[in-house]
Amino acid sequence: MLGVPNAVVAVGVAVGVGFLLYVLMFGASSTGVIGKLHDWMCGCYCLRPITRRLCGPKCQRALQRAEDVCCYRPNPLLQLFYVALMAGGFYLFYNKSLPLVPNPRLHIIHRYNSYLVMSGGLFIFVLASFCDPGVITAANLHRFSRVPYDKVLYEPRFCRTCQVPRPARSKHCVICNKCVARFDHHCPWLNSCVGERNYRWFMLFLLYHSILCFYSSYIHARIIEHLALDVHRLDQAHYYDETGTPQAVTVLQGVQYLFVHHNMTMAIGIFCLVIGFALWGFWAYHMYLIWCGTTTNETFKWGDLKDELRHRMQRKQIERGEKVTKKVEVPANIYNQGLLTNLAEVLVPLSSRRANGFAPARSIGGAMLCFPCRAPPPGDTPGEVEPDAEPDETDSDDGAGLPGAKHAHAD
Ligand SMILES: [Zn+2]
Ligand SMILES: [Zn+2]
Repeated sequence: MLGVPNAVVAVGVAVGVGFLLYVLMFGASSTGVIGKLHDWMCGCYCLRPITRRLCGPKCQRALQRAEDVCCYRPNPLLQLFYVALMAGGFYLFYNKSLPLVPNPRLHIIHRYNSYLVMSGGLFIFVLASFCDPGVITAANLHRFSRVPYDKVLYEPRFCRTCQVPRPARSKHCVICNKCVARFDHHCPWLNSCVGERNYRWFMLFLLYHSILCFYSSYIHARIIEHLALDVHRLDQAHYYDETGTPQAVTVLQGVQYLFVHHNMTMAIGIFCLVIGFALWGFWAYHMYLIWCGTTTNETFKWGDLKDELRHRMQRKQIERGEKVTKKVEVPANIYNQGLLTNLAEVLVPLSSRRANGFAPARSIGGAMLCFPCRAPPPGDTPGEVEPDAEPDETDSDDGAGLPGAKHAHAD
C-alpha cells in the first residue's frame, strides 16, 4: 500500500505542476512575485549559467536564438501545447474515467456532457485566439479614438512602425509588431494580443475553462466516491492490528488505497481542481481590473508612475529636512467609469458601437487624428493637421475623410 509520505508527495507534485503551469500561463500579465517568477523562468535566467558551463558559447547563442523565437516572436508553441494538453487530458479521461460513467452516483448525461464541454472549450479557444484584438490601422483609427487622452498615462503620440496616431489606451505590441487598442497584454497561449476587441473572449476563455476544470473535478469526485463506497466498500472495510483486533479503515487509509488502485483517476481529479482554481483566480484578477477601470498594461504604468512620484516627493522631503513619508497621491483614473460601464465597455467594445460616440470624444480631445507635429519629416509642410469641419457622425469603416488617417505626421 502507498505510504502516507508518497500520497503527500503525489498531491505535492500535482499542486507544484499546477503552480508552475499557472506561472507560465499567466505570469506574463501579472505584477509582483508571479510576474517576476515568470520572467525568470521564461527568460531562461535559471538555465543560462548551467548551459554556459556545459555547452559553451556556441550552444548558448543557439539557446538564446531559440528563446528569442519562443518568447519574443509570434509562434504557436503554447497553442499547440494547449491542444496537446486538452487532447491528452481527454484521452486519459476517455480511457480511465469514462468507462466508470454512468454509475449509481453519476447520471449518464455526464457522459455526453463531457464531449460537449470539451468541444465548447476548443471553440472558445479558437474564438479567443483568432478574433481581432483591435489592431489599429489608418482605416479603422476613428473607431478606436473614442476615449480621451488622460495626459497622465497617455499623450498623443505617433507610431512610426504602423504609421498611425496612437489612440489613448493603445500600445504597440513588440511581439505582434502592431498597435492594439485598449492593449491589455500579449498572451502567448492565444498567440495574440489581448485588446479591446477580444478581451471579452479572453475572459470567457478563463471562466469557461475554470468551470470545465471544476466540472471535471466534480465528475472525478463522484467516480471516486462510487469506487470507494460501491466497488471497494471502504466504509465497511477493516484491518487487523498487531494485537489481532479488527480496526475500521480510516479516511486517510482509504485515500491511500484509492491512490494505489486508481492513481490516474485521482491524479486527473486533483490536477483539474488545481488548474480550475488557478484559472478562476486569474479570471477574478481580471474582473478586479475591470472594476478598477484599468488594464494589465496600465497596472504596470500606474505602478511606475507611483514609484516615480514617491521618489520625487521623498527627494523633496529630504532636501527640506522633513520626515520621509511613503504615501503618495496619484492622479485619478479617468477611464474608470464605474463597474457597470467598465463591464459594458468590455462586453460591447466602444469600437463596435455605432459611431455617435465619436463626436463627444473628439470634443474632449479623444479623437486625436489632428495633433500637432513636433518634428515634421523633411519635405513635409510643418504645422497642424486640420481637424474635420464637421463632426463624424457616420458609421464608416473606410476612414475616408479622416485627415489623421492619411495626413498625420510623425512626432
Ligand atoms: Zn504601432
Ligand atoms: Zn501581441
